[in-house]
Amino acid sequence: MNIFEKIVNREIPATIVYEDSDTLAFMDIGPVIKGHTLVIPKTCYDPVTETPDEVVAKLMLVAKRIAAAQIKGLGADGVNIIQNNGKAAGQVVPHIHFHVIPRFEGDGHHWNWAAKKYDSPAEMEKLAGQIREGLAG
Ligand code: 5GP
Repeated sequence: MNIFEKIVNREIPATIVYEDSDTLAFMDIGPVIKGHTLVIPKTCYDPVTETPDEVVAKLMLVAKRIAAAQIKGLGADGVNIIQNNGKAAGQVVPHIHFHVIPRFEGDGHHWNWAAKKYDSPAEMEKLAGQIREGLAG
């Protein structure tokens, strides 16, 4: 059983901000910015590509509500909604979750978002073609 299932089952404590029959939102124990909240389904699915569409849709709708609550309740100036899949993408807990992170002007946090360049337009087109093939498959 993963750590989030233990939170769902109340086997370990968590600070819950929202709950309904199939979804839970609770405070991340290691916030990137204070107020950082996680939104999970009570049933474990992982990764997003293996999660039923209706579950992904529900999670996103709850994440949207949490974002609005962070703006209204915390006075956040902005919100990052992030969802990691796989170790290569930085995922640690193998139970689908959305991170909802309140952002404040001057909060000092900077994502390590280093924009790169394609070698040529042809390289970008080649990769786009591979993604289109993936969509068709
Ligand atoms: P991931 O890297 O898998 O996308 O994110 C996992 C998140 O779960 C991390 O931000 C981490 O701080 C949080 N986390 C891990 N263990 C616990 C826990 O026991 N309780 C809570 N509330 N959050 C946790």
